[in-house]
Amino acid sequence: MTATIIDGRKAAEEIRQEVKVKVDRRKKEGLDIPGLATVLIGDDPASQSYVRGKHRACEQAGINSFAYELQADVSQNEIETLIEKLNNDDSIHGILVQLPLPKQLDEEKILGKISLEKDVDGFHPVNIGRLAQKGRKPLFTPCTPSGIIHLIKQATNTIEGKRAVVLGRSNIVGMPVSLLLLGENATVTICHSRTADLEKEVQGADILIAAIGKPEFVKGTWIKPGAVVIDVGVNRVEDPSRKRGYRLVGDVAFDEAVEVASAITPVPGGVGPMTIAMLLRNTLIAAERQD
Ligand code: NAP
Repeated sequence: MTATIIDGRKAAEEIRQEVKVKVDRRKKEGLDIPGLATVLIGDDPASQSYVRGKHRACEQAGINSFAYELQADVSQNEIETLIEKLNNDDSIHGILVQLPLPKQLDEEKILGKISLEKDVDGFHPVNIGRLAQKGRKPLFTPCTPSGIIHLIKQATNTIEGKRAVVLGRSNIVGMPVSLLLLGENATVTICHSRTADLEKEVQGADILIAAIGKPEFVKGTWIKPGAVVIDVGVNRVEDPSRKRGYRLVGDVAFDEAVEVASAITPVPGGVGPMTIAMLLRNTLIAAERQD
């Protein structure tokens, strides 16, 4: 079997176009232009580049974006005051605090300060708590996990009843995607660094989500024939043949897995582009709710 390659760039572009059409319509109707505020703390190059990408995407979709950049040694109080100000600003419909934060800051408290209605990243403890409870609905779900579910639905008609195995239990990917899969009525197994026999767990997966940040860790022989494989990992490996000296690979050995799975996401071009698309969609939804 050779797997279908799930095209995350195309899926993300479709969502971004949809958002743009709706934003244009809002402008014609004289409604508020959706506005996203990003809060970037410190000078981590990866975070800076993610935030730049988010602003570029907002511009292309016609969404206003406002960048707040703070020094790494900023106090907890200063950030909370800024968030309070953004909560009360009617031109801002969504607030995103770029993670991870410098160590001296209390992440949970900062995320908890964001107005629930503006929590477009979906990391407010109440939104995450609702995601974890049966019969409760968060106002927003985190962007990368929502993008993953969108891609799975492109690859398979049914999630319900399937065995989903999630590698990784981080707050930003593994745990929320596991909760979303549970909400879709999959039977979910969450694996982590202390899981006793990872290979055996993976072998039972109809749907496999790999989010551990270990280059090509999951081998083709581990994968159940016909499984849907979503590779979230983004890892740099040395490659002298490339001008920049490295290439990006996922957590799954793609060349092996593609021969066994029914569908698989590539790295890059799979999950990556979905995160920003979902953020734009959430920002539009936030504006629609605040009309
Ligand atoms: P993280 O916070 O470092 O969490 C990694 C998780 O993997 C932890 O739960 C850890 O277990 C588990 N783990 C580590 N080594 C393992 C092993 N050998 N066997 C089993 N489990 C293991 O990572 P993250 O932020 O979730 O990111 C994961 C990957 O996704 C990274 O490559 C990241 O770059 C990528 N990512 C991509 C996007 C995107 O494309 N938009 C977004 C976010 C992240 P413990 O909990 O036991 O420590």
